[in-house]
Amino acid sequence: MENQVTLKIQRITIITDSMHIITKEVYFCYGHRLMNHPGKCRNLHGHSVKAAISIKEATLNQDGMVCDFADVRDAVEGFINTVLDHNFLLHKDDPIIPALLANNEQYLAIDDHPTAEVLSRMIYQHVKNQGFNVDQVVLWETASACASYRED
Ligand SMILES: [Zn+2]
Repeated sequence: MENQVTLKIQRITIITDSMHIITKEVYFCYGHRLMNHPGKCRNLHGHSVKAAISIKEATLNQDGMVCDFADVRDAVEGFINTVLDHNFLLHKDDPIIPALLANNEQYLAIDDHPTAEVLSRMIYQHVKNQGFNVDQVVLWETASACASYRED
């Protein structure tokens, strides 16, 4: 009996997606704590951070741009200035909240722990809701530590 070998030749198409990406950096400060953290992050403390917002487009507009850097700044600046900058960011169940309320202190309570991961997602979602094609948001909590958020 003769062995029959069937050779299948598949057509392989490699698609390379090209993409233009621009990044705008914004700087702000906040206080927070991670109330369940086993180490010193559970203490009340603050950060002076950089958020890098990247916008992507496969094709450039008629001016040869993804979009104007100033438009990205304008889209994020109001949100950061009114919601995050020089605010105290806390988990909604943080037991410090009654003391802040009693002393008429400003804070923002959120459903999640106020980590760099969560803040980068908050900024991403805000800029996306402004109509931008956001690639990612990176939040540098210190000079050596950052968290990024993207949706692919
Ligand atoms: Zn911290």
